[in-house]
Amino acid sequence: MKTYKNFIAGKLMDSKSGRTFENRNPADWDEVVGIFPKSNAEDINMAIEAAKKAYKKWRTVPWPKRSEIMRRAAEIMIEKKEEIAQLMTREMGKVINETRGDFQEGIDTALYASIEGRKFFGYTLPSELQNKSCMTKREPLGVWGLITPWNFPIAIPTWKVFPCILSGNTAVIKPATYTPACVGEFAQILQEAGLPDGVLNVVYGGGGEIGEAILSHPDIVGVSFTGSSEIGRRIGEVCGNTLKRCSLELGGKNGQVVLKDADLELALEGVLWGAFGTTGQRCTATSRLILEEPIYDKFIEMLKQKTESLKLGNGLNKDIDVGPMVSESQCESVHSYVEIGKKEGAKLITGGESYKEGECVKGWYYKPTIFIDVLPTMRIAQEEIFGPVLSVIKAKDFKEAIEILNNTVYGLSSSIYTNDLNKAHKAIELAETGIVYINAPTIGAECHMPFGGMKNTGNGHREGGWTAYEIFTEIKSIYIDYSGSLQKAQIDTWE
Ligand code: NAP
Repeated sequence: MKTYKNFIAGKLMDSKSGRTFENRNPADWDEVVGIFPKSNAEDINMAIEAAKKAYKKWRTVPWPKRSEIMRRAAEIMIEKKEEIAQLMTREMGKVINETRGDFQEGIDTALYASIEGRKFFGYTLPSELQNKSCMTKREPLGVWGLITPWNFPIAIPTWKVFPCILSGNTAVIKPATYTPACVGEFAQILQEAGLPDGVLNVVYGGGGEIGEAILSHPDIVGVSFTGSSEIGRRIGEVCGNTLKRCSLELGGKNGQVVLKDADLELALEGVLWGAFGTTGQRCTATSRLILEEPIYDKFIEMLKQKTESLKLGNGLNKDIDVGPMVSESQCESVHSYVEIGKKEGAKLITGGESYKEGECVKGWYYKPTIFIDVLPTMRIAQEEIFGPVLSVIKAKDFKEAIEILNNTVYGLSSSIYTNDLNKAHKAIELAETGIVYINAPTIGAECHMPFGGMKNTGNGHREGGWTAYEIFTEIKSIYIDYSGSLQKAQIDTWE
């Protein structure tokens, strides 16, 4: 068990509050993974002050020099991959193969940043006038607040930190209370890679207290947030009132459609991975399965059998398919949706209860759960459950399947299994989601592709790839007049 401290101006320090909180292993609640400072607004003020001071110099460091630090960070991350993946499984619960993947996403994002630093293009454009040139360049904004959730303890922080600081900004990050340790380790890696003091500061504590202190601070120029739509609305409101830039990556209610011509075995593997990977705790998790009528009964039979063969257990052990939920309250929240589903008249065919047998006796385990005969209007087909619960819906044909797919307030990810090229292209055109997969599950983002959703999933920004850099930079338009005389744009000249 390690005691963590806030990381401010390159130094590890206790909270001014004198309070702490502990983080326990969801696979074994007797294990305390770490003790963390429970910070207050005073700590946030210090961190923002440090970031503000560092910004003056950091913004002048050339992009390629900044990106060299990202490359060094990637090298250190490669060395520490196994160590931190194990820590992540202990603090968050998902199985080791998935935490390795989460960390690999962070490494990939660092490597992407190391390339982006040498090719961060602006535009050159023709001018309406002679002897005049036009161009654009991108510049940093200042000090950012980065607020992250617990389900991707490294990938999501790196999606924000690398583009934010490579662009010349500085930042204060507040990791989720359930998964604080990984971000602490990540900050140490960046320091080892040569990141100057104060460019990235880490403050631990509760969202209601220090999250709000970040939002309301006048020196914060922008907030990048990933989490629930509920908190996202609150953040958007505060940032709207104070005219801070704000990027919001929020919830999802993702659907996988399987058409009658699809490769059913492939679709089956896809839905098992999409629905029960990370114990269903992904923003892109497959929460709805939409089956075309002729294959409905057959596919459900295949699905039930495979689901019941999934092995639950501590994600550090071999051959485990599904780890625990992150916490007791997450387990309770999932169970309350199961009760709602039963009351609504959906048919529970497997799961629907917590699991406390064998090695799982001291963890927050919940059995992979399937409801069939779900109607698109039921709450279990509409609301984000964020756990291993799959709602299966019947569609009479392709047209109805797409209508059901789009019948939600969210718009993050969708998946269509078909071998009909025309239907695949039509689905891409009609799906109201930021990400569309053909013959692949709803999960599996790659770091160089834009990531984000439509409708209530966000506010139009995209993390990942080049689009993340659009969030963290301002565009400057530059006109250079080398005519030596006053030229007036758009003004008619009378000879
Ligand atoms: P959450 O409860 O909204 O919390 C997210 C972060 O916000 C945490 O760090 C939390 O701190 C903090 N927070 C809470 N109240 C706050 C406030 N008033 N002001 C500022 N910050 C505050 O979400 P979560 O349970 O951690 O994560 C699950 C949600 O994230 C799901 O809805 C999922 O779909 C979404 N998600 C979306 C994406 C995407 O890219 N679209 C990716 C991953 C997850 P505490 O931890 O201290 O409460």
